[in-house]
Amino acid sequence: MQRLNFTFDASTAELLETLANTYYGGNKSQTVRAALESLAAHTRHMGWVIAGYTTVVLDRPEACHTCGGRHRKGELVYRPVFERGSGAAALEALPRQPWFECPRCVEAGSVTHA
Ligand SMILES: [Zn+2]
Repeated sequence: MQRLNFTFDASTAELLETLANTYYGGNKSQTVRAALESLAAHTRHMGWVIAGYTTVVLDRPEACHTCGGRHRKGELVYRPVFERGSGAAALEALPRQPWFECPRCVEAGSVTHA
């Protein structure tokens, strides 16, 4: 346990009081905790991030996801490997389309997540 001191303006103090009395039996500590958890859930952007790449030899022509460059069958490109993670660029869901990156985009770190 850690004791923290906050200074709230009147309306924030009133809001805390109301929420605590309405939902948490007057317990302000529990109320602040619930508020922080709610904030974390909304701002964390938990999703999928690129953890690394595997090499792929194309068995048909494909375009680079980032620069759009065309690549022929037999060319070596990179496919992202996703892991659970957070960040502004995290994807909400795994991509449903094949995703290839050319060596230039991977090396330059310019891969876009959109
Ligand atoms: Zn590219």
